[in-house]
Amino acid sequence: MLEAIHSNGLESNVSIKLTMLGLLIDEEFCFQRMHEIVGDAKKRGNFIRIDIEDSSVADKTFRVYRRLREEFDNVGAAIQAYMRRTQDDVGDFLAMNANLRLCKGIYVEPRRIAWKGHHTINANFALALRRLLEGGCYVGIATHDEHLIWEAERIVREFGLDRTKYEFQMLLGVDEELRDIIHAAGHRLRIYVPFGKHWYAYSMRRLRENPKIAGYAAKAALRIK
Ligand SMILES: Cc1cc2nc3c(=O)[nH]c(=O)nc-3n(C[C@H](O)[C@H](O)[C@H](O)COP(=O)(O)OP(=O)(O)OC[C@H]3O[C@@H](n4cnc5c(N)ncnc54)[C@H](O)[C@@H]3O)c2cc1C
Repeated sequence: MLEAIHSNGLESNVSIKLTMLGLLIDEEFCFQRMHEIVGDAKKRGNFIRIDIEDSSVADKTFRVYRRLREEFDNVGAAIQAYMRRTQDDVGDFLAMNANLRLCKGIYVEPRRIAWKGHHTINANFALALRRLLEGGCYVGIATHDEHLIWEAERIVREFGLDRTKYEFQMLLGVDEELRDIIHAAGHRLRIYVPFGKHWYAYSMRRLRENPKIAGYAAKAALRIK
């Protein structure tokens, strides 16, 4: 895939879920595979983003990321605003000058681990974003929530950041009108595109991880323009 992106001149980086590379079986094996992929991406001038999965693999995921980051500058991680641990993680990532995607979090987590209220999660998202941008981290602001996009624009303006210091990120096919509005406002915007032959198994797995997605998809399909 990295070779195809390179030879076709696409402006695209690659996101990877570490459990797809054996994280739950052998962390060292997973690290070695990632080392190979990030190294290959580096040679081609590309960038690898590590998706963040459910709370049971967060520590392992961040450990692999930290090790890769010691050696490479073309690798980023992701954090979830709904996690109670997030502000501590922000401190660690600031110290590493990490490149981060900030999202709300998609997996169903128990209340002792994750904030549950919509307003609480949004406040935690805005606080994390403010701290990361203020500390000089590059942030992929991954949301379709209009209020958070408003918050992000406010913070960007307040700090006088130019568009190379952050980007917005959205999922393919979600709220394309908002996508165009963000783009027209002069921000950079990246679209997350699930890619591969096993799209049905992937979609079913995502639905099992969070049945709320089915509601979103139905709403989007029925939306009258
Ligand atoms: C680029 C990108 C990468 C992501 N990577 C991760 C990751 O690594 N780990 C992780 O846990 N989560 C990830 N997510 C998912 C994220 O954590 C949220 O669960 C998801 O984006 C919904 O939250 P929201 O901020 O859009 O706000 P919400 O309040 O949940 O949604 C706002 C509105 O957007 C629409 N919407 C949101 N999601 C969908 C959807 N799937 N289909 C149709 N409409 C939708 C709905 O209309 C909804 O009302 C990612 C999201 C994006 C955009």
